Amino acid sequence: FAINMGQLQLDEELGKGNYGTVKKVLHKPTNVAMAMKEIRLELEDAKLNAIIMELDVLHRAVAPEIVEFYGAFFIESCVYYCMEYMDAGSLDKLQGAGVPEDVLGRIAGSMVRGLKFLKDDLNIIHRDVKPTNVLVNRKGEIKLCDFGISGELDKSLAKTNIGCQSYMAPERIKGESQNNLGTYTVSSDVWSLGLSMIEIGLGQYPYPPETYSNVFAQLTAIVHGDPPELPEEKYSEQARDWVAQCLRKDPERRASYRELLDHPFLAGNLKLEVDTAGWVERALEYRRKASTPTPVPPLPQSV
Ligand code: ADP
Repeated sequence: FAINMGQLQLDEELGKGNYGTVKKVLHKPTNVAMAMKEIRLELEDAKLNAIIMELDVLHRAVAPEIVEFYGAFFIESCVYYCMEYMDAGSLDKLQGAGVPEDVLGRIAGSMVRGLKFLKDDLNIIHRDVKPTNVLVNRKGEIKLCDFGISGELDKSLAKTNIGCQSYMAPERIKGESQNNLGTYTVSSDVWSLGLSMIEIGLGQYPYPPETYSNVFAQLTAIVHGDPPELPEEKYSEQARDWVAQCLRKDPERRASYRELLDHPFLAGNLKLEVDTAGWVERALEYRRKASTPTPVPPLPQSV
């Protein structure tokens, strides 16, 4: 059945993205908490209708590693997109406390299975793999969202992709500078996956903007420099090799999803008992502490 605004009770704002605001809402008929993303598009109704129809494919994107889609509607040139509410938010905000290798393996495994499902079952290439598009809940589940499903929607969003953090593969950065669009393949997503793992492992984006004088210098480092690596002191040779196989500069040489799943890092991780939910609690607690301002000591009373 179709969702509409009248059925929703608005709750807190969950965050702001490049294209709009995400709010927590309650779907009253079913009592299900959802996340609703508002995307403002100055388009005529016919185009908006086409987008809503294209998004319908998402009802088939049901897998343990994919954020569930509940439905979309539009009101006055805004598209409202309703999805599963993930109560621990996005991974970029959880990595601060550090990510031990067993949890990193669970994250990597979930992301690869999610990406492989999208490709094999729905013939979808994600195109925007990065830690902000990986959502987590307190059960310890890790799921992908925000994949490029609607051609109309993608065309309508002003792609301001050259931000201060690019997850784009070297061949895409090069291709785009030659205006050679439309060369997106699965292997470009594999690069972004590897870069996301580095960011999660390091606790920061590996090409920090403050290191480079401008975006051009930063993109040049991605295209011409050596790919980043997981820190030796924190991660095993296997984990480091896995990420290195994602970050080969030549897209032809990058590992496939099958190879990544069969690699000892992930095959071994599956045999481990990993308390991902416990890690999520610790990461949330760390974030809560980090964001609570330390109390200002009272001013000495002048006598
Ligand atoms: P971006 O455009 O940067 O990918 P989004 O617009 O997708 O960002 O989301 C903005 C923020 O809202 C995210 O960083 C995340 O913290 C929060 N958010 C998005 N979707 C959900 C969801 N399904 N459940 C909970 N929080 C979400």
